[in-house]
Amino acid sequence: MANFNPKLLNDPLDAADELLDGLVDAYNGECRKVGVRSLAKNDIPDGKVALLVGGGAGHEPIYHAMVGKNMADGAACGDIFAAPAPNIIQEATQAVDRGNGVLYLYGNYAGDILNFNLGAEMSAAGGTDVRTVLIADDVCSAPPERKNDRRGIAGLVPIVKIVGAASQSANNLDELARVAEKACLQTRSVGVAMAPGSIPATGKPTFSLEEGKIGLGLGIHGEAGVGEIEMTTADALTAMVMNLIYQDYINDDEVDALKEGDEVVVLINSLGSTTMMECLVCMRKVREFLEQKGIKIFDVIIGPYVTCQEMAGISFSLTRVDQELKEYWSMPCESFCISKMQGPLHTGPATTHDPITHVPSSPQKTEIKKKQTVDLSKSSTGLSIHQARDMILKVADAIISAEPILSQADRDLGDGDHGLGMARGFTAVKAALDAVEFVSHRDLFASAGNAMLTTMGGASGVVFGSLFLAGGTTLQGADYFGSHELAHLLNRALADVMERGGAKPGDKTMIDALHPAAVTATKNLSNPLPGSLEATAQAARNGMEASKDMIATMGRAKTLGEKSLGLPDAGAISVTIILETMRDAVQAK
Ligand code: ADP
Ligand code: MG
Repeated sequence: MANFNPKLLNDPLDAADELLDGLVDAYNGECRKVGVRSLAKNDIPDGKVALLVGGGAGHEPIYHAMVGKNMADGAACGDIFAAPAPNIIQEATQAVDRGNGVLYLYGNYAGDILNFNLGAEMSAAGGTDVRTVLIADDVCSAPPERKNDRRGIAGLVPIVKIVGAASQSANNLDELARVAEKACLQTRSVGVAMAPGSIPATGKPTFSLEEGKIGLGLGIHGEAGVGEIEMTTADALTAMVMNLIYQDYINDDEVDALKEGDEVVVLINSLGSTTMMECLVCMRKVREFLEQKGIKIFDVIIGPYVTCQEMAGISFSLTRVDQELKEYWSMPCESFCISKMQGPLHTGPATTHDPITHVPSSPQKTEIKKKQTVDLSKSSTGLSIHQARDMILKVADAIISAEPILSQADRDLGDGDHGLGMARGFTAVKAALDAVEFVSHRDLFASAGNAMLTTMGGASGVVFGSLFLAGGTTLQGADYFGSHELAHLLNRALADVMERGGAKPGDKTMIDALHPAAVTATKNLSNPLPGSLEATAQAARNGMEASKDMIATMGRAKTLGEKSLGLPDAGAISVTIILETMRDAVQAK
């Protein structure tokens, strides 16, 4: 298929890295690149409570362009539409930490939570105190009683602006977290889409929408909203959306309804190709709506702040500001994304690119003398390290070839990047396994897991990275990889992924393939590896098929509710491909 919309890029897979380099240039000395893909301010004073934001790239100018004066101190940047990997978050944390704690402030997405939590764990081991506040302003993504399930969308802009200002004088993490929680609670948004953007690496649209329809409540990656409405006028749409936001303050027991005399900051955000003209036309109606209710506009910002490539769409956000929040809002700020009031930019040291400070720990290994190809079928008890390595390389090739299928499955229920993330991860696995000879099964599997964890990002980076990394820890001392090792690996991986991600069987995630696989592997301990893998792979496939009949309650698909019925989970397909390829590799003659 021809590209949905032509984009001016080099290799689209390099876009996230190249745009960050360009952003550092645009900051002209105020910020520098840190580690793999983070941005940090140059002049963070000692003892300051640091503010770290972050998320996937492709939504520019957020989040990375929110670093600046009275704004965020640093940003951890993922690949296009993918949460940053934990090592990237750790590097960013290290770069902004000034000994008084680091507040993580980012959007409520499974992938971001998994990666930031792991980044926080890694940072805590280094002595950094971390707190997290999640941004979840998207009214249409869940009802008020399930507010914790809401996604973070454009409301992040006023929230980060306010918290950035508050971070200048906060004495400790608790104080800053309190302001962040207040700003989050008082911010509500609704977005609509008229046409999709496209994923740079595939050229495919992020969602499909019938011509003449508007997707109401659609997410910033094109995740499902509350429904489709007929194309209408700017005034009619603005009135409807403003009413949804207004009603949400009434319906949510945790906040007061908006009342006469309240003051709000208004944000009108273009998702990409919706013009300033259209946003300004809508603004008149926002003012009229609020004036009719006696609500005062304290300030207005309008522009493309939170985008999804060339998506045509617009979102409206309100932040109710009390005296404290008004003071923070009124402080001048300067960043590439948002600047208020004039003032000379701080010019920092000439260095704009830090060397990579964090090198992920690599397992014990020695240089390979010569490559070996091994007949996997020859082993009677199980696989030697060389055979296990060949099996993982075959899995890598199978996943890389399945990229279009996995991306399509994620496009149907999520945001369309699962295949790209998995292909990125397994390409890194191939590189990690290619150059070295491993001395233990544990190191071999840990090396594969580590390669995935540090390159994939997204929910699946942590989930599939953990599969090999946590699973691999059970292989300590194993001489060969047999049925027992398979069962240990799958059970440990299952426990780890469930603990990290909080999903359980039936939530329509990769767990629905991994869980039956682990159970079946345990039942087949006395079966030799080919037979055990035969049964285990079949159990994963059955689990994946069964996920079609499940309603998603975790991951991006959860907002679809019953609409997620009939299609399998993308991650469950990946688990099936992994186990079936392992089976084929072991059984191949
Ligand atoms: P993202 O959701 O960040 O875009 P991917 O598209 O790469 O990440 O991966 C999506 C897959 O990750 C889902 O299909 C699901 O199988 C898996 N997943 C998401 N959240 C969880 C979770 N909490 N626990 C286990 N697996 C999850
Ligand atoms: Mg996805």
